[in-house]
Amino acid sequence: MKYTVLSLFPEIIEGYFKASIMAKAVEKGLVEYNLVNIRDYAEDKHKTCDDAPYGGGAGMLMLAEPLGRALDSVVGTGCVVGAGRALPVQSGRRVIYMSPSGRPFTQALAQELSACDELVIICGRYEGIDQRIIDLYVDDEISVGDYVLSSGEVAALILIDATYRLLGEVIRPESLDEESFAGGLLEYPQWTRPEVYEGIPVPDVLLSGHHENIRKWRLKKQVEKTLKVRPDLIEAGIKNGSYSPEILDLIGETK
Ligand code: SAH
Repeated sequence: MKYTVLSLFPEIIEGYFKASIMAKAVEKGLVEYNLVNIRDYAEDKHKTCDDAPYGGGAGMLMLAEPLGRALDSVVGTGCVVGAGRALPVQSGRRVIYMSPSGRPFTQALAQELSACDELVIICGRYEGIDQRIIDLYVDDEISVGDYVLSSGEVAALILIDATYRLLGEVIRPESLDEESFAGGLLEYPQWTRPEVYEGIPVPDVLLSGHHENIRKWRLKKQVEKTLKVRPDLIEAGIKNGSYSPEILDLIGETK
């Protein structure tokens, strides 16, 4: 997977690629990254990248021209104005604009994007970007949640983190199968050493070594937790038929 990130502050993104599991993924060649400073594509002497929006209103907007040139430098072609977008949607590459008015980012979307060869991610600042860039270049506008951040960099890191860990070999596949959202349930609670912490012992069943009992107990905890904090996931899971009879029984018992 290649991540190409266009930003006015690429240094915010850079550190992420240089630490921990991501650094190892880069070292192993599973992940490649290219950080593009949009300001390098501003042509006036002040390197201006923003201006007031037409029609008035608070704040500034990122200028189309530097961002368009920066995009041309990574996607390799000039705009075909009037074509609806600059480039044919290439299956391997998606151009994404991080935006609070985009479609919601979910585990399912992370899974879909992790199959791409390259994600080109535009990070907005100020009041956002000129609509013509969206019309000409962007395949997907994606929001990381119903709140407004001051910058697209933080949102881009969420998207990058959630997708790269799904690439084969980055994380053990068993770990991914059991975590929150896999199978329409949140993850079960977990404990590690010591056996007693601040007077609170680890649940007996986890020390029993009885794998089937542990499995059942964890599944029950998953159902309890999901019913309590995310009843919407349970409703959707029932509707989509994604639960096994065992899970449906547990939901019936717990409700
Ligand atoms: N005026 C805009 C907000 C701009 S916030 C509005 O009201 O919709 C500045 C930048 O932060 C945006 O261009 C976008 O790239 C990023 N951003 C803010 N909130 C976000 C969110 N929830 N998801 C993804 N990106 C977000």
